[in-house]
Amino acid sequence: MHRLSNPEPSSGPLSRAFEVRDTLAKGRGLYTITFIPRGAVVLRCSGGTFCTSELLPEHFAMQIGDDLWLCSDGRQPDDCANHSCDPNLGFTTGEPILCALRDIEADEELCWDYSTSLAENGWRLECLCGAPCCRGTVRSFPELSAEDQQRLRPIALTYLRLGHGATLRQGELR
Ligand SMILES: [Zn+2]
Repeated sequence: MHRLSNPEPSSGPLSRAFEVRDTLAKGRGLYTITFIPRGAVVLRCSGGTFCTSELLPEHFAMQIGDDLWLCSDGRQPDDCANHSCDPNLGFTTGEPILCALRDIEADEELCWDYSTSLAENGWRLECLCGAPCCRGTVRSFPELSAEDQQRLRPIALTYLRLGHGATLRQGELR
C-alpha cells in the first residue's frame, strides 16, 4: 500500500494525490488516489481573503471568520471536495486545514462538513450525502441544534468554536 505519510500542501494545480471524479448524485467530487492515515494533513484550504462585501459571483468562497472569506477560482482541490454529514476530513486544528478524521482508503471520496466553516445565517444546501446521520439540510453552524454544535465543535473552525462575534479579521491569518 502506498502511504501518504506527509502529504504536500495543496497549493497550485491539483496535487497528484487527488483526483476529481464524477459522483453518482452530487456532481464532481474529490477522491484520494492513495491511503491517508488518520490525523494526516490532507488539504490546506487556499485562496485570497475577502470581506463579505467584497465577494464576487465567480468566487469559490469558504467562510473563515464572521466577515472573512477564503476565495479561489474553483480549480483548487479544496474547491472540489463535497459536503458530508459524516465527513472523513475536518478542521481538527481550528485552522482552515482539513485533516483526516480516520484512516481513508485509496479511491474514497474526500468530504468535510460545510457547517463547520459557515456562520452565514440563512445559508441552506439540500444534502445528498446519503450518510445514515444525514441532517437533510446543511445550515450555518450557529443554526445547528446545540447537540450538533457540540458534536461538530472539535472539527469546526476556531471562530465558530469561540462563538459568534469572535476573532479573525483580514490579515490575521497565519
Ligand atoms: Zn447529509
